[in-house]
Amino acid sequence: MRESASWLAPGRVNLIGEHTDYNDGFVLPLAIEFGCRATVSPGPDGLLRFVSAQESEPVEVPVEGLAPDGVQGWAAYPAGVLWALGVDLPGLTVTVDSDVPLGAGLSSSAALTCSVAAAANDLLELGLSPRELVAVARKAENGFVGAPTGGMDQLASMLGEAGSVLFCDMRSLDVRPVRFALDDAGLALLVVDSNAPHRHADGEYAARRKACEQAASVLGVSALRDVTLDGLDEALAKLAPEPDGDVLVKRARHIVTENARVTDVVARLDAGQIREIGPLLTASHASMREDFEITVPEVDVLVEALLAAGAHGARMTGGGFGGCVIALVDNDAVAAAVRAAADAAAAHGFAAPRTFVTAPAAGAHAVDPSGAEPPRQPPVDTNASGAPDAG
Ligand code: ADP
Ligand code: MG
Repeated sequence: MRESASWLAPGRVNLIGEHTDYNDGFVLPLAIEFGCRATVSPGPDGLLRFVSAQESEPVEVPVEGLAPDGVQGWAAYPAGVLWALGVDLPGLTVTVDSDVPLGAGLSSSAALTCSVAAAANDLLELGLSPRELVAVARKAENGFVGAPTGGMDQLASMLGEAGSVLFCDMRSLDVRPVRFALDDAGLALLVVDSNAPHRHADGEYAARRKACEQAASVLGVSALRDVTLDGLDEALAKLAPEPDGDVLVKRARHIVTENARVTDVVARLDAGQIREIGPLLTASHASMREDFEITVPEVDVLVEALLAAGAHGARMTGGGFGGCVIALVDNDAVAAAVRAAADAAAAHGFAAPRTFVTAPAAGAHAVDPSGAEPPRQPPVDTNASGAPDAG
């Protein structure tokens, strides 16, 4: 066995397509410049050792103790990856270091699991394809950590491409890179982390999934993906008389219209009309606020402020109940937009948001285990005055 293998896997933002993944629908994420670097090396016999630069204590797990519920806390993510590989393991040491903000909706967990999966695959010479590594990383979260993620995060982190968003069909798991040439269009993609605490996100996520499954079952389809825009009115008329029909109508309407917005955005990007996706992003936010009811005042205020400051479009990204907002902004309007977001949060007494400019980055790739490669390019971090952020 080699001395070690190191891989870097990025976090992601989702340009559009929220909560459509578990409805067998469409999503359009991009890998971002923030990422997790994982190094896997042989360790003492029978022992798995997990070390994170973001955690004070290493965690040790005997190889025989590797089972779901056998590992608590953050180490469940890398331990779950090794478990999901489904092979006899030697003793291993896994060291990770990430600059993806944890729990902000930028998928630090997929960056972690994908980087560990790819590094372990490399060191142990398992020959798994990127697709198979996506499945391993997802199985680690679903089957070991117990996080019911839909699979988009891992696809974006493993298969993302610089300069493109990834059009993912979450039923077939087909993906197609779609050129997202921000620079050529003089545009910037802002990510504004509301820093709002996530409230009841797990329970609300489960409730949304349940409502979508219920709506699909009433409509006699295997998933809401099967309802098209043309058939929407008819579908809603069938849902309305059900107990909780008003809720089912709203949830289904979000999923069906959101799928249509994703394919519309792809069509415009394919036609080179980047600015024109703005209204679709904003419509997605309205749908999440009114119909799916997953936004919170902190993110609604940011979206309003960014639009008022001239953004072509803005929406919450990620599962909701806190997290980040994205906005499509002309390059020369970035500083004003950042300031507007900060001012609006302050005026409402909300936490100060943290804003950075992002662009589609490369998916998981091997890096030099010695760490001698040039430091990663950090995202341009802008504070309210548009100057580089000290933090
Ligand atoms: P998100 O994926 O949106 O950042 P999650 O709740 O899915 O949020 O995943 C965050 C969790 O992933 C953290 O609470 C932590 O347990 C784990 N995690 C991610 N990156 C690291 C890291 N570098 N070191 C230790 N734990 C990490
Ligand atoms: Mg996650």
